[in-house]
Amino acid sequence: MLITEDFLHYVWKFRLFDRAELKTVEGDEIEVFSAGLHNKHAGPDFQNARLRIGETTWAGNVELHISSADWQRHGHNTDKAYDSVILHVVYRDDAPVTLPNGRRIPTLELHNRIAPELYNRYHKLLFGERQFIPCEANMAGVDSLSMSTWLSRILIERLEKRSEAVLTALATNRGDWEETFYQFLAANFGFKTNALPFELLARSLPQITLAKHKNNPLQIEALIFGQAGFLDGDMADDYPRKLKTEYQYLKHKHGLKPIDNHLWKFMRMRPQNFPTIRLAQFAGLIVQSNHLLSKILEIREVDILRSLFDSISINPYWENHYRFDAESKPSPKNLGKASADVLLLNTVALFLFTYGKQHRQQYHINRALKLLESLPAEKNNITADFVNLGLKIKTAFESQALLELKNNYCDHKKCLDCTVGNKILKLS
Ligand code: SF4
Repeated sequence: MLITEDFLHYVWKFRLFDRAELKTVEGDEIEVFSAGLHNKHAGPDFQNARLRIGETTWAGNVELHISSADWQRHGHNTDKAYDSVILHVVYRDDAPVTLPNGRRIPTLELHNRIAPELYNRYHKLLFGERQFIPCEANMAGVDSLSMSTWLSRILIERLEKRSEAVLTALATNRGDWEETFYQFLAANFGFKTNALPFELLARSLPQITLAKHKNNPLQIEALIFGQAGFLDGDMADDYPRKLKTEYQYLKHKHGLKPIDNHLWKFMRMRPQNFPTIRLAQFAGLIVQSNHLLSKILEIREVDILRSLFDSISINPYWENHYRFDAESKPSPKNLGKASADVLLLNTVALFLFTYGKQHRQQYHINRALKLLESLPAEKNNITADFVNLGLKIKTAFESQALLELKNNYCDHKKCLDCTVGNKILKLS
């Protein structure tokens, strides 16, 4: 048998061993009232367990090992943190263990107490053949209520992790939520390919500078294209020439330094997604909305939220251009529903959640979750593979939770910490 400590922890935590006539290797009766709290940090494996050993009831820590000799191998014999251990649980007892004070630690041996079926299911789950995730053969057998409760939990985990980046940026921006939102929104406007230059652009061009020109769309566009490094060369068309003239004046006035234009990527992109078009849309959004986060915090309806993004109007020059000085066939260049939904998912829902958490306003947290429930699921290789396993994925709430599950649980074989894994192991 290939026994791991994780498996022993799991067996102890859920008391999945034969508890009939439970005794220490020295022959004292054991009764387990509480297995204790699983400690995944330094120190004994389970804390605050409650047990009776012989006639004495104990409250304290429990340490688990594959073999009792591991106690010494891991250096616990010289570590005071382990003096409070009341029970040593081992798969095999191959050496007596004593504390520095000479007290022998009561030891429970489990090797004849773990059902072979439980071990077989565990082994198959973690070490069996697979194409996508370890539990792919059994996932469909897990009931939908357990699944949806688990997905809700991991979605919150995902949002909490992602909100750390927002809080770090918020601290850098001295608590300015609007500026932080503007920077995240800019990065998401670049989608995957141009996220970095968009973020650098936003950092080089604070919202307060744009706000001074909010009544002059040409100046907003000049600031954005100029800072993005697109107004350096000679321009032929009237519109970019006007932008260039405005920018030269504004650059000097605000002491601005443009970002490196080479950061922008056009290769292998559909022209609708060219950074020039995204910048024009971003400029349109800035012209149309001041204090966007404050507005978003007040809007209740998803459709109204979406309309903030998918109805952005941009300068008519872009109707028949994808780049400056290169005329093309006319085509609409609005952001579109799918792109608006990506911004709602990656920026708006994240900020509603983080803002709600930071201000202890459950209302905004609930709105973030509701927003994710009302957005369509993302379609990618991971969600497609989950669909092939029989899962129905309709909303972004579910697809986001499944991405978290795959990336942070399945890929690391954390099946013993996962509701799906627990259900599969306990299936009789
Ligand atoms: S972590 Fe959970 S969902 Fe992922 S493979 Fe393991 S049991 Fe399945």
